[in-house]
Amino acid sequence: MMFKVQTINRHRMKVDGEGVTTLVGLYGCPLQCKYCINETVLKEAPYKEYTPDALLQVVMQDYCYFVATNGGVTFGGGESLLHSEVIQEFIRILPEHVSVNLETSLNVKQDAVIPLLEPVHQFIIDIKSMNGSIYEAYTKLPNQRVLENLQYIAEHNYQHKCRIRVPRIPEFNDEADIENSVSVLRNLGFENIDVFSYIIKED
Ligand code: SF4
Repeated sequence: MMFKVQTINRHRMKVDGEGVTTLVGLYGCPLQCKYCINETVLKEAPYKEYTPDALLQVVMQDYCYFVATNGGVTFGGGESLLHSEVIQEFIRILPEHVSVNLETSLNVKQDAVIPLLEPVHQFIIDIKSMNGSIYEAYTKLPNQRVLENLQYIAEHNYQHKCRIRVPRIPEFNDEADIENSVSVLRNLGFENIDVFSYIIKED
């Protein structure tokens, strides 16, 4: 099993997880968001392959920072959960006291999510919109899997591991839609919810 890695950014402070983190950007995403922040993941862009052992060697350079700050490794992308099996393998060889966080849209099969609910420290979930029509207009995919995964997480009491990001998406949603998304999420027991605005790149 190999990771397809596009970027590795070390020494990040409280931006994608607790403490000092190393962000590992993985290749590929099932969505086609209109304002994609990382369009290279949608194209046949170059990536480098790493075995779990090889990636461990890279991230362990910062072991002392991780232990001192409760930090660790954050897998992003793209869609990190497209790489669920190799992440599971990586976690098996990771020393104690190094946490793993995942950035995800949750628009993946439940099989990719369930095995990681226990070992992952935090899921940073960009929900887009809880309204199926808005979601599909923006991403070109239905949000059925997202809803099923949120439901599963809620039924198994893992909400405390989730930080859910609800974006303001120009031309796609409005304040009423954001309020609705937040309300549906709160009813599922999610409390750590950030509302934020997408920053659109000028062409
Ligand atoms: S989920 Fe992220 S990487 Fe995937 S298309 Fe949307 S913005 Fe781009």
